[in-house]
Amino acid sequence: MTPLMTIPGQTDPVPVPRAASTGGITTRSDGRIDLIGLPRARIAELFAEAGLDAKAAKLRAKQVYHWLYHRGACQFEAMTDIAKTMRPWLEERFVIGRPEIMEAQVSTDGTRKWLLRTADAHDFEMVFIPDADRGTLCVSSQVGCTLNCRFCHTGTMRLVRNLTPGEIVGQVMLARDALGEWPRGRMDVAEEESESDYTSDGRLLTNIVMMGMGEPLYNFDHVRDALHIVMDGDGLALSKRRITLSTSGVVPLMARAGEEIGVNLAVSLHAVSKIVRDEIVPINRKYGIEELLSACAAYPGASNARRITFEYVMLKDRNDSDDDARELVRLLKHYKLPAKVNLIPFNPWPGAPYECSTPERVRRFSDIVFEGGISAPIRTPRGRDIDAACGQLKTSAEKKSRAELDRQTAEVWAEKQAAMD
Ligand code: SAH
Ligand code: SF4
Repeated sequence: MTPLMTIPGQTDPVPVPRAASTGGITTRSDGRIDLIGLPRARIAELFAEAGLDAKAAKLRAKQVYHWLYHRGACQFEAMTDIAKTMRPWLEERFVIGRPEIMEAQVSTDGTRKWLLRTADAHDFEMVFIPDADRGTLCVSSQVGCTLNCRFCHTGTMRLVRNLTPGEIVGQVMLARDALGEWPRGRMDVAEEESESDYTSDGRLLTNIVMMGMGEPLYNFDHVRDALHIVMDGDGLALSKRRITLSTSGVVPLMARAGEEIGVNLAVSLHAVSKIVRDEIVPINRKYGIEELLSACAAYPGASNARRITFEYVMLKDRNDSDDDARELVRLLKHYKLPAKVNLIPFNPWPGAPYECSTPERVRRFSDIVFEGGISAPIRTPRGRDIDAACGQLKTSAEKKSRAELDRQTAEVWAEKQAAMD
């Protein structure tokens, strides 16, 4: 069982040690190894350790990798180009894991939220937001968060551990299961597929944002390894241009994120003065606004075509004045940032110490930033009725009955089976 981690203090957040000292492997109680989350080379190593010669291990790893991530196979038996005798050999030693679905909810606006559980019984959440022209999956990187942004419900969770690469990539796989979006066609002749089978065209799940529970840069290696599989053409094959990583401002890891992951960057700025940002985003006490914006200016890959998103939660009388808006424009220009600003109306939760700005205030703020030459759309809150909106993710102790959960799981697998047929 993975030990729970202590929470660093509010003023000096530090990276938590990684959950899996086992090289990112999610271990199972029966000793079998979960392959989900592992790269091709690691799968080959495991096959070699289990007795295959090097050449066979490499070939089998390539085939299995394709079935796991590109086809979404969840049984070795389905891997039809692998010899029939080989499949039970795999079955005895390995598993194809998914996070367990504890609860699945659908909002009146179509937003879906899943409460998921790790093999060692930690709960976390994932949200899918359908729009007219895209479908965005909001993926969690940690159970809870070590940081304590004052407006964020996740920040009030006490327990935390990093999710493993398998648990991160597993969220995307579960979403594809639920949406029935694995490639179709002949399951055994991968070479005959056309390029278009691998693009997001025609799919519901087109974009991924690392904006669920947790601070992704405090789980750097696992997030990177998971996203590599998500971006790999023979993996889940989503373009890096359709993936966004959101950070509250872990400055020392931002350059590495650009170099080693290379996805779009979003930064939770939320305030333009030290005094306010120190209060609402406490990591600011460690890495201040100037340092943060300099790191943004140096972010590899940022350009006018790939702008950095600055998230700004609208808190009544805290950060929403005309002067705040003008200072925001000044700062973004001063650092010559290819920027767009996302204005997020504050989503309240029970006991939250803030209120949302009035709609007129949000509109005025948006206009000022826009007049300053920077796009500043107002985000419509989604899934509020099921607590799926930004910052509302917090797992509760309340659980459904076993029978209810079994029914939901069966439904999801039935959908998936239908998609594979
Ligand atoms: N930890 C990362 C990513 C997860 S939070 C980060 O902080 O960037 C995703 C976004 O939701 C962040 O911009 C966060 O500031 C915002 N958010 C958190 N709580 C919110 C709330 N109650 N209302 C609106 N947005 C919120
Ligand atoms: Fe953590 Fe992000 Fe919430 Fe801050 S806003 S507490 S960094 S999840």
